[in-house]
Amino acid sequence: KKLPLQRYEYSHPQMGTIFRIVLYARSVPQAQAAAQAAFNRVDQLNQIMSDYIPDSELNQLSASAGTGKEVKLSPDLWQVLQISQEVARKTQGAFDVTVGPLVQLWRRSRRQQQLPSPEVLAKAKAATGYQHLHLNKKNQTAKLLVSGMQLDLGAIGKGYAVDEAMEVLRQKGIKIALVDGGGNIRVSKAPPGTKGWVLDLSISNETDHIGGKQIYLKHGGVATSGDLYQFVELNGLRYSHIINPFTGLGLTDQRRVTIVAKNGTNADWLSTALSVLPIKQALTLANRTPKAGAAIVSNINGTTQQQSRRFRQLKWVK
Ligand code: ADP
Ligand code: MG
Ligand code: MG
Repeated sequence: KKLPLQRYEYSHPQMGTIFRIVLYARSVPQAQAAAQAAFNRVDQLNQIMSDYIPDSELNQLSASAGTGKEVKLSPDLWQVLQISQEVARKTQGAFDVTVGPLVQLWRRSRRQQQLPSPEVLAKAKAATGYQHLHLNKKNQTAKLLVSGMQLDLGAIGKGYAVDEAMEVLRQKGIKIALVDGGGNIRVSKAPPGTKGWVLDLSISNETDHIGGKQIYLKHGGVATSGDLYQFVELNGLRYSHIINPFTGLGLTDQRRVTIVAKNGTNADWLSTALSVLPIKQALTLANRTPKAGAAIVSNINGTTQQQSRRFRQLKWVK
């Protein structure tokens, strides 16, 4: 006779956050082995996608910028860059993983408490632009055309990692699970006796609030962008860690975006892309992305709330 399913929970620090797994299994060894394998996969992806580890695959690729070299990519880096470039084209560069030089400047502004000079900013912008990243599908290679280019997967890597961790759990025989990588969530199947994983989707700013509500989710991904702690305040303006590639500076309009999508990867890139795009285009992109829903709270010209079609149709707990 089969043992009953029991709930197990594990956590593991990685990618500057804490990865958490909740899963249902029939024994401690099964649960532990599955969680361990999933966390190993996250570690492996960090070694590929990190912009902090000097010899990560991503940084080795960035180091080839301007040399004319075509660099062979691992299947994971290929996949993430392929998706990223598709999103960059769809958003006319609002989402752009070549923002590395601008992210470096943002970090420096935070340390030094001052904005970059126009010259420094112009130089970083010259080494930015998804059209300078060429992918060769046949050989699965990449070429960075401009020297000084630096790729940054901060807006998609954690979403991809939670999807891959879920895939490992599935291969280990775990069907019911939740993987959370710092608010990038992926769920699979409802826990026993429930209508789904209960997820808190309330988003708010100082003056306004959407939700205070929870949904049941059986399959899919969730992400929120607009983290309250990730900003630098200079001359009375708050610059978010999400960069507007057109100005080269952090966003200043304090928008908060919550996404429900078919997986963690889509939720992650959508939450960043919809933070940068003008509100109308943001909603259009949400409505055009299969199985995606978005709720946006912003306070440009007074407070506004917007919800895409599918977000309004979500099944709320109460
Ligand atoms: P989080 O840091 O919570 O994962 P996001 O998923 O929105 O939030 O990712 C923000 C990160 O993505 C930034 O810290 C930076 O590394 C990178 N980034 C910033 N601006 C952009 C942009 N316009 N397009 C793509 N990536 C960006
Ligand atoms: Mg993101
Ligand atoms: Mg993210």
